[in-house]
Amino acid sequence: MKIGLPRGLMYAKYHTFAKTFLEELGAEVVVSPPTNKKILDRGVRCCVDEACLPMKIFHGHVDWLKDRCDALLTPRLIGVRDKEYICPMFCGLIELISNNIPDLPPLIDAPVTSLEYGKLIKWAKQAGGFIQKDDTKIALAFDRARKAQQMEQIGYNEAGYPLKIALVGHVYNIYDQFINMNVKKKLNELGIGVMTYQQVDRGDIDAQIQTLFKKPFWTFAGEYYGASVYISKKGLADGILYLSSFSCGIDSVMTELIQSEIGDFPFMVLKLDEHTGEAGFDTRIEAFSDMLKRRCEFGRHLS
Ligand code: SF4
Repeated sequence: MKIGLPRGLMYAKYHTFAKTFLEELGAEVVVSPPTNKKILDRGVRCCVDEACLPMKIFHGHVDWLKDRCDALLTPRLIGVRDKEYICPMFCGLIELISNNIPDLPPLIDAPVTSLEYGKLIKWAKQAGGFIQKDDTKIALAFDRARKAQQMEQIGYNEAGYPLKIALVGHVYNIYDQFINMNVKKKLNELGIGVMTYQQVDRGDIDAQIQTLFKKPFWTFAGEYYGASVYISKKGLADGILYLSSFSCGIDSVMTELIQSEIGDFPFMVLKLDEHTGEAGFDTRIEAFSDMLKRRCEFGRHLS
């Protein structure tokens, strides 16, 4: 059986788990190509205008895969931690693609409410049952997939540059080079190293979230806040670059909240949508880099 795996949204973080799980169940996995202009155009054509860029791109990946596989793995992702939720767009993703893209193959869309073991194994039995009827084999595939995911290092923390910028934002913005126009390469060419917010320990992120009057409703929003505040307090980077999706409610709230907490620590928000021009994007990155360099020089004069 050929199972399609769209290279969009949470693929950036959980592709090792998904691929290992499917292959251990005996499926042939077909992954859509890295995002490109054609995938984006497909997504923009079939998705509703109001959706954010990552949702449109996900549509493009699904549209590319639909005639190349027997079924698609598209879990209905509701939450990754107990009693916390992620963006409501994810809950409606299955309805969006089912209504926007005609002639889809069957969707393996069992809901994921938490990545906690007990809940995820239930998901594995439901989703894996589409390919394999033997529960023992499903449990074995699940364990191997979890182990493979645990071995996976997400993100990077570059050394050897005079300055460093931390990338914060949705994983599908940070790790999709088409969406972010290969921001890492651009920064490196300006002599700036890059780290991603996943380098901050979960415990340190949680400690910052605890200081808020009210814990954010959305898991990822809390992570962006906690990591940004920790990075600024500890000086783990010289500045923060927040890659935000245009029309994303979570980003609108979190960028304000982060800015109000970190004070004058260098922080820039780059909004991304299908109309974002590369020239304007480059200009803003260069301006941010110049500001960081001047700040660094100024600091040297003072010391
Ligand atoms: S969190 Fe924002 S960017 Fe992500 S799917 Fe939801 S609206 Fe889109």
